[in-house]
Amino acid sequence: MHIQTHVMSGWCLGNYAKLTPRERFCCMLAASWADLDGLGILAGPEFYWEYHHKLCHNLPFGLLLSVGLMLFSGRRWRAFFVYLGLFHLHLVMDSYGSGADWGIYYLWPFSNWYVENPRAWEFYSWQNFLAGFLLLVWVLWIAVRDGRTPLEIIMPSLDKQLVQWLRQRFRWKPS
Ligand SMILES: [Zn+2]
Repeated sequence: MHIQTHVMSGWCLGNYAKLTPRERFCCMLAASWADLDGLGILAGPEFYWEYHHKLCHNLPFGLLLSVGLMLFSGRRWRAFFVYLGLFHLHLVMDSYGSGADWGIYYLWPFSNWYVENPRAWEFYSWQNFLAGFLLLVWVLWIAVRDGRTPLEIIMPSLDKQLVQWLRQRFRWKPS
């Protein structure tokens, strides 16, 4: 699925887990960093086709990623399980929204066993665009209701301006 859709999925669900701003930021990384193996395109198309959805779309990477992010988090075990859950959500979303012939090598590098979803849809499909659109609406809803956007940590002043602008647009008065 599209990278921005993964990032938004981490943000939206992370907002329901009673986390700190830094942990919510980590949620976006947990939900999207499996796609780091897409950078294999820099090593050429053959490497990309062989290793995208393999190097980082597996349980060992999910555990490493979650432990790594946990070290930057306050309530570590709660954060760890949230991150691991979001990593798995990434795998589920990919199994549907990355097109046919993209198996998930869940136990790689220990095993070449993989799962393929016979109901997968194309990468550039209305389903993926709809998922992205619905998550964007959800992001806006969180901004208006809770007064924060995915920029809360990296660009706090822009985050505040966006929230203010959106609340004016929707005539929302925070309680
Ligand atoms: Zn992916």
